[in-house]
Amino acid sequence: MSQTLTLHRLQHTDSQTDKVRARLQVILKTLEDDADLRRAKEQAETAAAGLGSAQQALRQAEESVRAQRVKIERAESSLYGGAVHNPKELQDLQNDVASLKRYHITLEDRQIEAMQALEDAERLDQAARANMQAVTARLLQQNQSLAGERDRLLRDAEKFEAERQAIVASLPADLLARYEALRQQRRGVAVATVTDNTCAACGSGLTPALAQSVRMAGEMVFCPTCGRILYGG
Ligand SMILES: [Zn+2]
Repeated sequence: MSQTLTLHRLQHTDSQTDKVRARLQVILKTLEDDADLRRAKEQAETAAAGLGSAQQALRQAEESVRAQRVKIERAESSLYGGAVHNPKELQDLQNDVASLKRYHITLEDRQIEAMQALEDAERLDQAARANMQAVTARLLQQNQSLAGERDRLLRDAEKFEAERQAIVASLPADLLARYEALRQQRRGVAVATVTDNTCAACGSGLTPALAQSVRMAGEMVFCPTCGRILYGG
């Protein structure tokens, strides 16, 4: 097997490993990313706190209405109890009752507002909890699927590594070093195939003579433009 063909095979294996590693990075980052879940949790906590406040506000509003009713009953029993005869006092009592009743209406209005606010808070709380359940379920499914893909990719990476070891064993050290250096300089691609007399990596055209010598696969030929090792296929 010519050294160029061996390098081409090494390049193929390394490119696959690069793809696997890039995908693994994305997967690990996605698996670690719990921003959606944290946001949903925060929303659910805020909604639950809002619900608690609304419940408390309604209890207080109800208590105020109740207390006001007691005040009215007391005032009315004084008014109609027969103990007060003085017309001025009776008039004052009547005014008190009227004033207490007016404020009772205000308090009842506030109670209705508190009930409406509680309904809104309940809706928000339900929506936030449903959202959190949905996010949790989605993440669970997504992460299960990603974990499966990650495991497959890790097995692929092991397989490619074994292939690499086998290929590297048949290459002279200086050639391997040259290949590695090119791979570093040329974004991972050290060996380029030649198609239609063109370097597939950088797209520049080759002279017919150069393309011919690539096809002969005798000595190693480099792309005059990008410097990569050319492989005739
Ligand atoms: Zn090139």
